[in-house]
Amino acid sequence: MFEETEVILEAKHVTRLQREKNITIGFICHDIALVQSVSHQVAVMYLGNLVEVLPGEDIAVKSVHPYTRALIGSIFDLHMDFSNPIESIESEIPSPLDVPPGCPFQNRCEHCTEICRRERPRLTELTPGHSVACHLFVPSGTENHEAHSPTGL
Ligand code: SF4
Repeated sequence: MFEETEVILEAKHVTRLQREKNITIGFICHDIALVQSVSHQVAVMYLGNLVEVLPGEDIAVKSVHPYTRALIGSIFDLHMDFSNPIESIESEIPSPLDVPPGCPFQNRCEHCTEICRRERPRLTELTPGHSVACHLFVPSGTENHEAHSPTGL
């Protein structure tokens, strides 16, 4: 409980500093709940690759990349329903020195297909301010169109 209060206070300090000084703050953190509470814009990275960019206030409901969704699913909350399982990501992170060709998240993604192992997905804008690098979300009419539509998530 003490740690939770401490984190909330830190978040309030960061947002107050940003507002009063009218400055941009780059905030790097693995705590996705804290990130969404202090960030105007969030850039989600996996193995040094940008996989999704979107407004902080949208991350819980509008994020679509399988890695971002897994992060959201793993948020632990004291007031959560403990009868529901806490999600985890299967498999291991590949060595940063030996990242496979194609999508860097492929060995941990339940939606991985052949194109994911072959081609690295490019960051593509879905809506203004929201971009994702995933073959599930390639707009029709562009290359890599053999990927399926974004209905599976
Ligand atoms: S590109 Fe393929 S492997 Fe990578 S996150 Fe998207 S569906 Fe999963």
